[in-house]
Amino acid sequence: MATFPTKCSRCGAPINWDESASSVSCEFCGQLNTLNTKPFSLNPISRQLEKTFDPVKRVLAKNLQTLVQ
Ligand SMILES: [Zn+2]
Repeated sequence: MATFPTKCSRCGAPINWDESASSVSCEFCGQLNTLNTKPFSLNPISRQLEKTFDPVKRVLAKNLQTLVQ
């Protein structure tokens, strides 16, 4: 999940994030602060999601089998 830096990466001033924004310019120094997302962060995230939902899927499949039988 993307995390919002709470401080400007250049001057350390607190940042008020617009939740819909992916980047915010610092009010004090103009530094463009962006979400802490890495270009290849999608793969670990989807892997994590799979890991999280795999047991659920398995349980659902089992229940489905039980219902079908
Ligand atoms: Zn700043």
